[in-house]
This record gives sequence, structure tokens and C-alpha cells, in this order.
Amino acid sequence: MTAQRRVVAEVLVGEHVHLTAEAVHLAARAVLPEISLATVYSTLNELVDMGEVLEISAGNGPRRYDPNTTIAHQHLLCMRCGTLRDVTPEGNDSLTLPPDQHYGFQVVGVDIMFRGFCPACAET
Ligand SMILES: [Zn+2]
Ligand SMILES: [Zn+2]
Repeated sequence: MTAQRRVVAEVLVGEHVHLTAEAVHLAARAVLPEISLATVYSTLNELVDMGEVLEISAGNGPRRYDPNTTIAHQHLLCMRCGTLRDVTPEGNDSLTLPPDQHYGFQVVGVDIMFRGFCPACAET
């Protein structure tokens, strides 16, 4: 494993961690000052291809990177500050796409995004 990949992987650790590439870059630079944003992007893409990291589209904001690949989960998004939480919804086992809406796709997964306002944002 390259030093860059190790540093990026170390930055992306923990629960409810959903960092933008810029945030990963900032944290990685504290360890490896010469690491460039382009290197962070290509390393993140490698980790996503390897299945080590999930890539999440959070509304209009930048893509977020999530190291929690071992436990299947969905996300809860604050529409104001962008805070993302890992959640495991109940009762979604029966969520299926009717065959007449497959449009020839081989369907391999589904992502659910719950949206709202976090406690701090709901107060203001
Ligand atoms: Zn918020
Ligand atoms: Zn997550």
C-alpha cells in the first residue's frame, strides 16, 4: 500500500464519518504535507473501486466518502449544514422495484436518503 493510500485510509475511520474530498485532503495534509488534492481524489476513487469506501451523493453538495462498508446502512442528511448520519431504517426489506420498471437494468442496490434538519439547525 502506498503512503498516500494509507494516509487517506487512516483519515477515513470511524462511525458517521462522511468526509468531502477537500476535508480528506485537509486531514491527510497534516500527516503527509506534500499530498495533493488530485492525489486524494485518485486515491479515493481507488478505494471506492476496491469497495473499501462508499461514495455518497448528498443533494447538491459535494460527494462524500464513507468508510462504513461492513454494515449495510442508509443516511440521514441535514439539509442546512450537511451533517450526515448512518441509519438503519426498519421495514425496508420489502422495498423492491416492480419488474416492469427495471427497464432492462440489472438492479444491484438501492440507496435511501432521509432528509431533515439536525437539532442545531432546527433551533435557528
Ligand atoms: Zn444541520
Ligand atoms: Zn454512512
